[in-house]
Amino acid sequence: MSRRSIVVTAILLAVLAAVLPLFVLSHISRQRALASEQSRLAHEAERALQRVQVTVAQARRVLETLEREGWSGCSDAHVARMRALTLDAPAIEEIGFFEGDRLACTSWGVVDGHVPAQPSDLELPDGLGIDLELHPAASPSATMLALRRDRHNVLVKPERLVDVIIDPGIWLGVATRTGRPIVASPGADPALVARLSRAATTGADERHLFASRVEGGVVAFAIADRAQAEASTAAERRAMVPLGLLASAVLVGLVVWLSRQRLSPQRELDIALRRGEFVVHYQPVVELAGGGCVGAEALVRWQRPDGAWVPPNLFIPVAERSGLIAALTDQVIERVVQDLAGAFAGEPSMHVSINLCAGDLHSGRFLPVLEAALARHGVAPSQVWLEATERGFIDTASAGGHLARARAAGHRVAIDDFGTGYSSLSMLESLPLDALKIDKSFIDAIGRGAATGVVIPHVINLAHGLGLDIVAEGVEAPGQAAYLAQAGVQYAQGWLYSPALAADDFIAYYRAHRPSPRAVQSVA
Ligand code: C2E
Ligand code: MG
Ligand code: MG
Repeated sequence: MSRRSIVVTAILLAVLAAVLPLFVLSHISRQRALASEQSRLAHEAERALQRVQVTVAQARRVLETLEREGWSGCSDAHVARMRALTLDAPAIEEIGFFEGDRLACTSWGVVDGHVPAQPSDLELPDGLGIDLELHPAASPSATMLALRRDRHNVLVKPERLVDVIIDPGIWLGVATRTGRPIVASPGADPALVARLSRAATTGADERHLFASRVEGGVVAFAIADRAQAEASTAAERRAMVPLGLLASAVLVGLVVWLSRQRLSPQRELDIALRRGEFVVHYQPVVELAGGGCVGAEALVRWQRPDGAWVPPNLFIPVAERSGLIAALTDQVIERVVQDLAGAFAGEPSMHVSINLCAGDLHSGRFLPVLEAALARHGVAPSQVWLEATERGFIDTASAGGHLARARAAGHRVAIDDFGTGYSSLSMLESLPLDALKIDKSFIDAIGRGAATGVVIPHVINLAHGLGLDIVAEGVEAPGQAAYLAQAGVQYAQGWLYSPALAADDFIAYYRAHRPSPRAVQSVA
């Protein structure tokens, strides 16, 4: 994934992380508020149903008492008994007695005229008949509920069934299972009442929240206005906002932290190593006397997925700091041996030098890795040189030990960038070295009269004195090459000859610039 797409993804994720918690919490709090409203409605419906049961039980008890006591005939005692029972049962308004198919007397006295008995609208399993709309003889405009058994009936005001204190915005009602309303708060949606009568349910539609409870042939229901219920829960939802903001902030922070981690140089390098994004280029090293190519320095390059090249000066220090240098060195060794194994076989005097860092020299890990790669590809150790900068010798004892073993195995060892680090002359003498590479800054000074120009002859004499070969780095001008050749420097590399080349180009360069037989002997 390119840096740009990581940044774009991180921005998108951050926006999502900012919005999502607010959205989710608002949704959850809304659902919770609606669910709690629905359970309140279910509770109200349950209470209404209990009220129906209590009323029916009262009516049944009164009717059973009259039946058991065997009253008939509308005597004064009969009427007085009915009145006493009416006054005793708060739900009951009136008691009636039928003779044949006419009402003969009520708890208020003997009935004059012909009031016919009506057939029941529904019958409960125990034989109790219910008339849903009875208009009493005494007040025909009133609508009563009549419960009849045998020859007596009792009248109940339907409002009593829903006579519970409820919040405004709630409709409470009772209906038959067939959807016929017995009583309902004014304004209840008849279609919804019919729907709720079919089964016990709890739910919501676009305009309502509702719950119904069923017992026997009766349904009690409670309905609330959805908009009103939602408005009343708005405060609760607003209370969730700080929590939502906190969750958003935590998530955004997490996204930023993760993307920074992902974009950190170490992480990028780690991924590049795993994806094998490193290639090695080879800068030809020429023999100054004859101008022939004797080998090359392996210089690692990082080619990012978008095609951009990253120079080693940018990522080698990061690799060293983050402990990834060992893995990078392993990859460079493997790459170099793979790239050049074929060419080495036909060119026994060709060499390649591999750069080592302080970490490599301290651990000595490079040696077994190199030996294994060379053995696998059948390459002679003498064809691989090792370059160690002066900084690599800070831990002189272990670095010296590992390089001594490398030399014993057949490798040649050079000190790189000589003159730019901290090496003391005594240290130089004690190190197991074969060659010294003069840093480009000294080469640049040649012929310019710069102060560093004075040092070069001494460095060359020193190397000669210690019996070391000399490689001049960064040779760009023919004058520099002439000076170095005349001063007895054996090898040079630099843009005067060639920049670093891809493996195939270097092999072609080498074949076109093979050293003269004399130079071959001196290198070998
Ligand atoms: P170095 O080992 O001193 O490598 C020589 C550097 O000088 C290379 O730069 C090379 O391309 C550059 N150079 C060569 N000739 C000329 C020239 O005529 N003019 C100019 N201006 N520059 C020239 P590069 O490839 O950028 O490497 C920089 C440093 O990175 C190297 O310095 C070396 O210390 C390190 N490096 C490169 N590859 C590796 C590697 O595989 N492992 C380790 N540990 N370090 C590496
Ligand atoms: Mg080098
Ligand atoms: Mg160098």
